[in-house]
Amino acid sequence: MSSSVILVTGGSGLVGQGIKHIIETEPEGSRFGKRPGEQWIFIGSSEADLRDAAQTQALYDKYKPTHVIHLAALVGGLFKNMKYKLTFLRENILINDNILHASYKNQSQKLISCLSTCVFPDKVEYPLDETKIHLGPPHESNFGYAHAKRMVDVQNRAYKDEFGCNFTSAIPTNVFGPYDNFDLEDSHVIPGLIHKCYLAKKNGTPFVVAGTGKPLRQFIYSHDLAKCFIWMLREYDSVEPIIFSVGEDEEVTIKEVADAIVKAIGFEGNYTFDTTKADGQFRKPASNKRLVDLIGPDFKFTPFEKALDDTVKWFVANYDTART
Ligand code: NDP
Repeated sequence: MSSSVILVTGGSGLVGQGIKHIIETEPEGSRFGKRPGEQWIFIGSSEADLRDAAQTQALYDKYKPTHVIHLAALVGGLFKNMKYKLTFLRENILINDNILHASYKNQSQKLISCLSTCVFPDKVEYPLDETKIHLGPPHESNFGYAHAKRMVDVQNRAYKDEFGCNFTSAIPTNVFGPYDNFDLEDSHVIPGLIHKCYLAKKNGTPFVVAGTGKPLRQFIYSHDLAKCFIWMLREYDSVEPIIFSVGEDEEVTIKEVADAIVKAIGFEGNYTFDTTKADGQFRKPASNKRLVDLIGPDFKFTPFEKALDDTVKWFVANYDTART
């Protein structure tokens, strides 16, 4: 890539900060490090409200991005998704449409947008793979978010067919890492449990995990996900989406997650599971075969315990400024 301006929307969030970390810390010129002639720009919502077409165009006028990694989205936990379906649908449609159209109008050479495995159909044959996105309605709870995200895949294909745009999308499974949202009420399972366990240690109270601890999930560390995005930017040119995940054989139980958090925090108090609370779906495995085939066998994911330990260390060190 000679002389390129890479704009990362959602650059202040969990995934965006993961990409920033890798670009800044991997050796220059290496597979995932910064390359000569590259200028990386990470923006949050304070720079432009991407729901607004004029602000989005002003952003493109300012930076003239040749490449765009589009991560910005209205995201939230189960409660918010259920309560604000229209808001999640409309705001994400606006954000995505503005970015896709600005990338087309301003002749960006490449655009990668970010979907999520929770946009897949509710009733579907597992494991999930890239061919199954549109095979049935999404789960009722995230109806708005899921439909808005699915439309990105539809739009990518239409922009390619009508205008030859090099647009594609990535589909991460559950992400965790530094700069996550550690809110106690409306966060994902890992940051929520880290915060809970941290408070239990600090206050000398029990650490109670909701549910039986038996469900299995695939988690991807934000620094590994970052490498997948950087690889996609440089080495992949197809509209077909790719699932970014660890393998199906690397699923972990919620109990394994909680055990690793207890260890990383150094919590020695009372630790139990509240089995009166709902577990959610037992498994929803996603296949990472396409990713592994394309990125190659040399690519290694960070061992889960190490990634979790690093995340906990970051949270403890940044407790005063982290999103809690
Ligand atoms: P975060 O909540 O950490 O970050 C969201 C980012 O979007 C922030 O940089 C935020 O800016 C920006 N943003 C939100 N609304 C606007 C807006 N109106 N205009 C401009 N920027 C806006 O989310 P993640 O990093 O977790 O998510 C990044 C992407 O990854 C999303 O597309 C999400 O759907 C996807 N994803 C996430 C998963 C996960 O487990 N976290 C799993 C699968 C997919 P600011 O903070 O400055 O307001």
